[in-house]
Amino acid sequence: MALPKYKTSRANTHSRRANWKATAAQTIACPNCGEPTLPHMACPACGSYRGRVYRSAIRSAHTK
Ligand SMILES: [Zn+2]
Repeated sequence: MALPKYKTSRANTHSRRANWKATAAQTIACPNCGEPTLPHMACPACGSYRGRVYRSAIRSAHTK
């Protein structure tokens, strides 16, 4: 196994980690109610996905 010859400097570690950023999730408009939803997921506002309504996907006031 190859071993690194030198310890990675704190500046190199920090500059590498500074470029690791989270990106906002892509959303699409729900074709049923127009709310922004995640693609390939049932809409949390009306529970519809591919023409069907999945009641368990509807976000209740309790879980908000
Ligand atoms: Zn919807």
